[in-house]
Amino acid sequence: MLNNLSRLNIVRIGSYITYSSLQKIGAGILNAFRGIIREINLSHYDSPVVDSIDAQLLTMILDEQYEGHVLGITDADLKTEDEDEFYNSILGGKNPRNDVAVVSTKKLAPRQMTSDRQYDLFVDRTLKVALHEVGHNFGLIDHASYQSARGGRLCPMSRGEINKFGYRGYVKVVVDGRGMDFCDDCLSFLENIYGFNQPSPQLLKDSLVAA
Ligand SMILES: [Zn+2]
Ligand SMILES: [Zn+2]
Repeated sequence: MLNNLSRLNIVRIGSYITYSSLQKIGAGILNAFRGIIREINLSHYDSPVVDSIDAQLLTMILDEQYEGHVLGITDADLKTEDEDEFYNSILGGKNPRNDVAVVSTKKLAPRQMTSDRQYDLFVDRTLKVALHEVGHNFGLIDHASYQSARGGRLCPMSRGEINKFGYRGYVKVVVDGRGMDFCDDCLSFLENIYGFNQPSPQLLKDSLVAA
C-alpha cells in the first residue's frame, strides 16, 4: 500500500473519452496533485464491449496488469454486489485492498451529447470523479456534506447523499459543483503526509507521457 504513488497509470477501457481528452484528464489530475504525482502513464486496455462490470473485479484485473497506483476509466456501468462502504457509488470506487481506483463514464453523459460544449462537460465530469477516486488512493476521505475550496467551488472530496438526488441530480449538484482544487483540510493532509509542493507547469507537461 502507498507504494509508487508518485506515478499513476491511467487506463482507458472503451472509447467514449477520446485519447486527447484522456490526456486532458491526466493533466488535470497531475495539476491537482502537483508535487505528489510526478508522472502519469496513459494506456488503453482493449476489452470486449460489455454493458457492465463488477467494480471490485475490475480493480483486481487492473491491479494484476499494471503496477502500483492505477486509475481505470471505463465506459461500462460499475456494479457492486455487496455493501462495501468503500464503493461510494457506481460512478466510481476504490478498492481498499490495492491502489486501484475506477471510474465509470456511463452515468456522466449529459442527456444529449450533440455539441462540443456537452462533450466538454462530460470530460469535465469524468475528471472530477477521477480526482475524487484518486484522492481516496492518497488516503483522503469523503466530506459527508459539501465543503468548499478556495475559489468557492466544492472540494473534489465532497460527496453528499446520492439517494437524495438520484444519479442525474447528484451529477448536476455534486459532481458539477466540484472544482479542481482541494479544500484546506485535504491540502494540509496531503502536505503532512506527502509534502505538497508546486513544481513549474513546464515540468508537469514533460512528465505526462503516453505508454
Ligand atoms: Zn468517496
Ligand atoms: Zn477536501
